[in-house]
Amino acid sequence: MDTRFKSAIYNTKEGVKTFYYDPNSPCIMCGKPVVEASTGGTAICPCCDIGVHRDGTPWSYKETLEMGKRAAAKYFMQKLEN
Ligand SMILES: [Zn+2]
Repeated sequence: MDTRFKSAIYNTKEGVKTFYYDPNSPCIMCGKPVVEASTGGTAICPCCDIGVHRDGTPWSYKETLEMGKRAAAKYFMQKLEN
């Protein structure tokens, strides 16, 4: 196991599973390192998961729409790649 990776435990349809993720991999919304897994998964940083910037200020309505669009596009690309 690569020591760069962290683990996170999620309750999935198939039961409780441990996922490994790279804390330096970019968040699918803000593009900054995810650092920690969030309830939204290992691809979304905890800040984006609750809709705030890294400095703690909440996203505006416009930013929320932009982030949602960006994540949907990335998700779609991943689906195509796999
Ligand atoms: Zn983020």
